[in-house]
Amino acid sequence: MMTDIYLAIRRKNLLKPHVESEIGKCSICGEEVWIDVRTSEIAKDMQIVCLDCFREKLLGNIPVAEDRCPICGAKLIREEGCMKCPSCGWSACG
Ligand SMILES: [Zn+2]
Ligand SMILES: [Zn+2]
Repeated sequence: MMTDIYLAIRRKNLLKPHVESEIGKCSICGEEVWIDVRTSEIAKDMQIVCLDCFREKLLGNIPVAEDRCPICGAKLIREEGCMKCPSCGWSACG
């Protein structure tokens, strides 16, 4: 059975999260990441992975809905040729 992956933004990449968040740790690189407090209970049973590790090591192995933000699930918009999340500021182009 595969552990579900909880995608999180690195703390140093996002100074102030859009939603109330607590600090967790990426299971791959050990960097501190933001965990949405509304989902922190679920996150305990999941493998926490920062977006950077996700892109580098996991992308391609896990299906991700292309038009949905991997962080908050909001619908992505195209801006300057890049998919961006209007809700949390996530960008596909990093
Ligand atoms: Zn990481
Ligand atoms: Zn988002």
